[in-house]
Amino acid sequence: MAVGDIVSGYDGIREKQEALYVDLHQHPELSMEEERTRGIIADKLREFDYDVVEVGGGVVGVLENGDGPTVMLRADFDALPIQEDTGLEYSSTVDGVMHACGHDSHVAALMGVAALMKDATDAWSGTLEVLFQPGEETAEGAQSMVDAGVVDKVAKPDVMLGQHVFCSVVPAGSVAIKPGPVLSTGTSVTVKVFGTGSHGSMPHLSVDPVVLASSIVMRLQTIVSRELNPSEFGVVTVGSVQAGSKANVIPFDATLKINIRAYDEDVRDKIIAAIERIVKAECEAARSPKEPEFSFSDRYPLTDNDTDVTARVREALEEHLGSDRVQEADRFTASEDFSVVADAFGTPYCYWIFGGGQEGEEMPNHSPFFAPVQQPTLQTGTEALITAAYAWLGK
Ligand SMILES: [Zn+2]
Ligand SMILES: [Zn+2]
Repeated sequence: MAVGDIVSGYDGIREKQEALYVDLHQHPELSMEEERTRGIIADKLREFDYDVVEVGGGVVGVLENGDGPTVMLRADFDALPIQEDTGLEYSSTVDGVMHACGHDSHVAALMGVAALMKDATDAWSGTLEVLFQPGEETAEGAQSMVDAGVVDKVAKPDVMLGQHVFCSVVPAGSVAIKPGPVLSTGTSVTVKVFGTGSHGSMPHLSVDPVVLASSIVMRLQTIVSRELNPSEFGVVTVGSVQAGSKANVIPFDATLKINIRAYDEDVRDKIIAAIERIVKAECEAARSPKEPEFSFSDRYPLTDNDTDVTARVREALEEHLGSDRVQEADRFTASEDFSVVADAFGTPYCYWIFGGGQEGEEMPNHSPFFAPVQQPTLQTGTEALITAAYAWLGK
């Protein structure tokens, strides 16, 4: 038996898989509001005779097929608050919501895996768990499944595997993989600082939160450039500054939204401590009348691929896809909550990239123009997952 005995059925599911992809793309749903998508996933898994566990807004399909290891494969299924501008004939039908991160292709690929593995139970042995999670874009979904007890509701997997489509890095038809840290930690912090309002012509009667916020923005730039070791990776981006509404009014407060990336939990903690210290010191320097407020969100852990698992996956991918279609990945500055469920189980994992664009294309995810080609993207995503799972489940 070989992995080819499973993926040889691909032509038989291609049409249905592409139809599912188009349907999901046309009906995107925002993070933690994915009712329709979840229903479709659960229905299809039941149709394929999987045991279906709905937990924390996500769905796990379990297929027990004799003795052997347990392998968990994961896809996320939420979309983004972006107005689609791809011009595709199957563009989003929902105003201001779009599958701009390709999670629709993740679902279609994993559902294709579920169908093919069910159709070829003679070719493998063990337990397959296909996990579909909501709310990746807000870092809520995986945690929600863990909080709702996914660890007690399905068997602990021996390995967890997942993937993301990119329209850059590698073209459609290829994958990129690396051991160790591959996706950064991410955290957002909203900071509110306080002044005292005044007439724009009477600045001496105010503490101006606009000047205070500006000073904070500039000083934050020194965290990465002056405080981190130059060999350490970190990003501090102030993505939003909001204060006031009129030219001749000095407002009472200002709000900054700051995003942080790092490859090391210690570096992340160092950056957070530096932000808190700088904001407090600038407030004091400005005579701010009230302590600044900090609220943290979008906390993504490090995605740190297990060395042995990754070597085994890579070897299998090279054997099945051909080594010319398997590249060494770079570290990405993006973040993922994929590892949250794996860490809750204490299961080693590997997460890789599969291509969705043309050779040389550099279209970032989260763009209104993000449009992976359907093929060979879906087939490659499907075959990559099956090939990797087969490295454990194969006979
Ligand atoms: Zn995304
Ligand atoms: Zn994504």
